[in-house]
Amino acid sequence: MDPADGDTKFLTAEHNGDVSFWWRARGGFPPRRPSLPGPTSADVCIVGAGFTGLWTAYYLKQAEPSLRIVVLEAAFAGFGASGRNGGWLTSALPGSRDRYARGAGGRDGVLDLQRQLRQTVDEVARVCAAEGIDADLVKGGELAVATTPAQHERLRAELAADRGWGLGEEDVRYLGAAELAGRVRIAGGLGALYSPHCARIQPAKLVTGLARAVERAGVEIYEATPVTRIVPRPTARGTGRPGPDMARACTMFGDVTARFVVRATEGFTARLPGQRRQLLPMNSSVIVTEPLDDSAWREIGWTGYETIGDSAHVYMYAQRTADGRIAIGGRGVPYRFASGVDHRGVTQPAAIGTLGHVLRALFPAAARSRIDHAWCGVLGVPRDWCATVTADPASGLGWAGGYAGHGVAASNLAGHTLADLVAGRPTARTVLPWVGHRTHRWEPEPLRWAGVHGLYALYRAADHAEAGGSARTSPLARVGDRISGIP
Ligand SMILES: Cc1cc2nc3c(=O)[nH]c(=O)nc-3n(C[C@H](O)[C@H](O)[C@H](O)COP(=O)(O)OP(=O)(O)OC[C@H]3O[C@@H](n4cnc5c(N)ncnc54)[C@H](O)[C@@H]3O)c2cc1C
Repeated sequence: MDPADGDTKFLTAEHNGDVSFWWRARGGFPPRRPSLPGPTSADVCIVGAGFTGLWTAYYLKQAEPSLRIVVLEAAFAGFGASGRNGGWLTSALPGSRDRYARGAGGRDGVLDLQRQLRQTVDEVARVCAAEGIDADLVKGGELAVATTPAQHERLRAELAADRGWGLGEEDVRYLGAAELAGRVRIAGGLGALYSPHCARIQPAKLVTGLARAVERAGVEIYEATPVTRIVPRPTARGTGRPGPDMARACTMFGDVTARFVVRATEGFTARLPGQRRQLLPMNSSVIVTEPLDDSAWREIGWTGYETIGDSAHVYMYAQRTADGRIAIGGRGVPYRFASGVDHRGVTQPAAIGTLGHVLRALFPAAARSRIDHAWCGVLGVPRDWCATVTADPASGLGWAGGYAGHGVAASNLAGHTLADLVAGRPTARTVLPWVGHRTHRWEPEPLRWAGVHGLYALYRAADHAEAGGSARTSPLARVGDRISGIP
């Protein structure tokens, strides 16, 4: 094959945007639900119909079937990251164990959070079975692969850290190059860590099925209803206790007043008044190939449907789809000035080119295939990269998010926890270390933009330097980690 021909193919995609390939694959978007018909009151109002908002509604309705729960969604259920992600239902902890351990629960709290996140993978599978949701879920585990000596060293350090945090051989284990190749042939694969606690899913199928399950339970979802402002419950004059008024979610169709308003807006949060510097909308892009032919799959293997990521600083994440494609994602252009977001998932040509080259480098057998679809989305990153779940009865406000790219499973546990908090029920979830977790705000612009772009320039340079074969992590990456506060 002419290399130039190959390059050109990998710089373009047949489709770009349309929210994501996952929607096209499930046969397009479901019929739109109506907008909020006018001002109303509810027991609980949830802003955002992604996984966080929908899981909160699901468990709250289960706990208290009589509650009137209203979900307000700016676009449609699953429009955000929940309908665009890489489909890793992973038990990975969103954030740093050391940082969570500084909270009141200490080390035991972190061990508990790890344990509950592991159970979450099976909990999502359980609900899918119970609610008849076919999300192409296969629990094949997760492979973190090394393709350079420096990545390999990091894997070993990661394994040692995992053992220090109580993860045994049944939770994570090292695979040498031959054992890795027995599962999946990755060009230059030196070794991998394997964890069984991860499932491959089709995101749009999961979020659509969940939205329907929530509606069946009696929750009202209103689409094309952007919330313009969230107003806390005023305190009774002079007492500091909640007054008779309720919290409010304001929309162009009227306000919803409720005992609790729950914000589940993740990467879009910065657009709400007063929230500009709370969660940084980090951009992530994904490409998907056309279905590979049998000979390509014979070359690659990957019959176990593990999710696969590498250990680069600008890392990639991949899945084998139910219809025999490779979906591979990564950072692309990391951040848009002033917390901007994409237009319906259209990603930059540079991101398609970068991911195309990663795909071809790791899976040479896929070089023969077209890129069928490319898209992007935003995920919410807090300043310390650790997630928060919180609900305050006095203000009537709650929120969960800041999963920093690990929210597909974590949003299930976070939503379940929010439901407990809103219902006022103490459980094993409501004492987890991310409950009430607080962090600093992001720097104002243009520092925020310069910082994120500078950070990823350092990481790209570090990956480039490590590709030379050194077994040591590039000092550039360490500088980047220090700047970002990445654990
Ligand atoms: C490209 C990409 C790949 C990813 N891959 C993975 C992965 O493989 N595994 C993993 O664990 N995580 C992954 N993530 C992260 C994961 O998808 C998210 O953490 C998770 O989906 C967050 O769910 P959410 O409901 O909190 O947010 P979202 O799904 O973003 O939902 C927020 C919703 O709120 C709505 N909204 C926003 N503002 C308003 C408003 N003012 N009024 C009303 N509605 C509003 C939005 O329209 C949206 O529907 C990825 C993210 C992206 C973008």
